[in-house]
Amino acid sequence: MKPFRRKPKLLIIVLFQNLLDEEPYYARNPAPPLPGLLLAGMTPPLVDVEVLHEMVRPIDYLTDADFIALSFMDYCAPHAYEVAARFRAKGRIVVAGGKYITNFPERAQRHFDSILVGEAQGVWPRMVEDMVEGCLRPRYVADPEASLDDIPPPRYDLAEKVFSTPIVTEATRGCPHSCTFCQLNIDPVTYRMRPVADVIRDLCSTEGLPYHKRKFAMLLDNNLGGDMAYAKSLLREIAALKLWGLGVQCSIECLRDEEFVRLLQQARCRMAFLGMESLNDRSLESVKKRQNRVEEYRELFARLHSVGILTFTGLMFALDEDDSAYYESLPERLEEVNPAVILSSIAIPIVGTPLYWKTLAEGRIRDHELSHYEGDHLVFEHPTLTREDVFTAYREVNRRFFSWSAIARRWWRIVRSQRRNASLVSVFFRILIMSGIYFKLSVFQRQHATERVLQKGKGKEERRVFSAAAM
Ligand code: SF4
Repeated sequence: MKPFRRKPKLLIIVLFQNLLDEEPYYARNPAPPLPGLLLAGMTPPLVDVEVLHEMVRPIDYLTDADFIALSFMDYCAPHAYEVAARFRAKGRIVVAGGKYITNFPERAQRHFDSILVGEAQGVWPRMVEDMVEGCLRPRYVADPEASLDDIPPPRYDLAEKVFSTPIVTEATRGCPHSCTFCQLNIDPVTYRMRPVADVIRDLCSTEGLPYHKRKFAMLLDNNLGGDMAYAKSLLREIAALKLWGLGVQCSIECLRDEEFVRLLQQARCRMAFLGMESLNDRSLESVKKRQNRVEEYRELFARLHSVGILTFTGLMFALDEDDSAYYESLPERLEEVNPAVILSSIAIPIVGTPLYWKTLAEGRIRDHELSHYEGDHLVFEHPTLTREDVFTAYREVNRRFFSWSAIARRWWRIVRSQRRNASLVSVFFRILIMSGIYFKLSVFQRQHATERVLQKGKGKEERRVFSAAAM
């Protein structure tokens, strides 16, 4: 390949659609995922860059881009291969990276002109140079101990305008816990932290964005609280930025630390994503989520709500110790525990995780089609429950939790619980921001419940159950 005579263009595509989808599915997620914007930030100015998030717009196969870079989750790998083949047939150079490629480079290699194994910082600029020079190698392997210092800020200016919270970044990588379903435990690495000053610089690299978008940010760490001293020093610095709203992700046991919660509040945190996963202690134990204690949920969630921080919690179905009695009581127990919003899914034995190897060794994996590993399929046989038991409970919880009346009831309960520990104007402003985030998140998750779980109004009722039963 000859060197370019004009400045070439790179299109970074963050995939989202599943091969299973009969129609495109677009999500009303307020924030973009981090990888595309981060990669764009690390790209040297040898190329023009565009970022396309498939969650909000379709792939432009007529693009004038010379190079295509794909980022995707495991379940999107079959889709990624299809997209790569279409672009390569048009003579474009297609490269890919991410966790799936890193864990399974041999499976992915032949589908792309080049792959990046490991973390992009330190490797990606060289890869872009080689692309432009026409001497791209088939594989680039990052140093697993590569420093997290001086990673350039994500290119928020390249996020689609539909994202109301384009400022997303991360402060840490990894997690000290051993949950057996977690992708981080395929090949665990040490918990690492970025310099606080770098994170603050990211949150301030907002030139060109409208004022209101500069006032909201998300820290998309796997677990911000993996090192409490670090998390607290970061939150103190963020408080000085006087954001209107901050979102974080952390493990539930962090909330036992009252100083951490106070610092979240001072940093104007308005939403915390928490890995609740189950209201069944035996199910939590079955996946080694030992840091969670079900009897604490209600109090910890209420503590956050009272200072204006919404709880957005993961909830998994079909964990090995789930049983019919648990599912029957689940809707009422969710009412008691009162998470503001749930992100529900069927348990996924992600290939390579300890949960996957255990389920495989027990001969219970029934479906190896990767595009089914997205959380709305049951790909393994449960020890005691039938598929119908699992899907009935999954649908029932989604139906009840995301009814408009339940959404309104939870909102009112959270508003009434607000601590009046500041001026009336501050409390009013806090409630206003929190309510906006609450309804955005609730509508987003209701969309998932309606279109993916309940399949209402599309003539696809029961499709998930039938397709699962046919496995
Ligand atoms: S706490 Fe969360 S991030 Fe950490 S191992 Fe468990 S699931 Fe993964």
